[in-house]
Amino acid sequence: MEVGKVHSEVKIGAAEKGKTLARIYFDNAATTSLSAEVLEAMMPYLTDKFGNPSSIYSYGRESRMAIENARKSVAKILNAHPSEIFFTSCGTESTNTAICAAVNDLGCKRIISSPIEHHATLHTVEHYHQKGVELSFVKLLPDGHIDMADLERLLSASKEKCLVSLMHANNEIGNMIDIHAVGELCRKYDAIFHSDTVQTVGHFPFDLRNTYVHFITGSAHKFHGPKGAGLLYINENIKIHPYIHGGSQERNMRAGTENLYGIVGFAKALELATANHESDSDIIRSVKAYMMEQLKKHIPSAEFNGDPNGRSLYTVLSVSFPKTEKSEMLLFNLDINNICASGGSACTSGANAGSHVINAIHPGSDRVTIRFSFSKYNTKNEVDAVVAKLKELI
Ligand code: PLP
Repeated sequence: MEVGKVHSEVKIGAAEKGKTLARIYFDNAATTSLSAEVLEAMMPYLTDKFGNPSSIYSYGRESRMAIENARKSVAKILNAHPSEIFFTSCGTESTNTAICAAVNDLGCKRIISSPIEHHATLHTVEHYHQKGVELSFVKLLPDGHIDMADLERLLSASKEKCLVSLMHANNEIGNMIDIHAVGELCRKYDAIFHSDTVQTVGHFPFDLRNTYVHFITGSAHKFHGPKGAGLLYINENIKIHPYIHGGSQERNMRAGTENLYGIVGFAKALELATANHESDSDIIRSVKAYMMEQLKKHIPSAEFNGDPNGRSLYTVLSVSFPKTEKSEMLLFNLDINNICASGGSACTSGANAGSHVINAIHPGSDRVTIRFSFSKYNTKNEVDAVVAKLKELI
């Protein structure tokens, strides 16, 4: 199979030997396929250029150079300084590092977050809450956006230094915060601001020098880069201690021999995503709009979660259907029909175990929610095929 292409021919069970089914991949918020150009950029570092970046001889220096070039490139794209860019193993590690640092090094005794954060955030803030840090969740509006007036009320009422941890875009319903508006509130109340930007880095432009935010996170596998390559931006005005102890890698901030090819892949994937942003996002937007249109036309009982026409990821469409004996098996039946979609976040892919996000915005709802998420490789023909199948399966 050509790398990067996901609409592949899949051989099916022995009983139906010889037949093939087209697989449709509509779960790009869970992960994306590795782009051929990214693999090409990584390949030398998986083969010939294997030196340990900490070694002083030429093999090592070559590897070090590749990492520092990747850092410069990522910093330039995000309009940050290279010294603010740290490579990690994933978005989850980056978020854990940021929240841990805010509590342990930056004096935050209260965390303000939301009930619809990714578990990387939710489980981490709950961990610190159990250790005595105060925790408040900001109220949500009916469309799932955070209530900015409530955020200001929480900030102004706090006598303690606050960490505000609010995701830039929700991975299940796509809702986005106004990162500048939240940042300005944090500036006003002298709060530390961490934003989980895993679903937006590589999909939206960033201008970190002109954004009031202390930590943002990224993960290469969400924009056609490799898995196991994460990003943590730490604003230069704050000083924190390492989260992982050991060697002096990542300027003493994250010990452990660097994921050289992952870092090279991260930077290449971000460069490509940035260079092709306009055309790629146009394709994805039109696929999402077409899917909404076709669902409205062919399955009028379908409803959209969140604010899909408003401040929302162009990559994500969260749809709910009335619960029936048939629709309860929807994810499973889509899978049997070679359609990859998700019941919520990647952790719950394959199992429609109640999503904490849907429960927070529609408490007590007994509808069945499916998240479809798109990439530049998806087509309107695939939408037609999925909507036709949904009509049978509902
Ligand atoms: N935050 C959000 C919003 C996500 O969608 C994900 C991945 O699903 C993560 C964090 C975790 O990222 P990673 O898989 O790189 O640990």
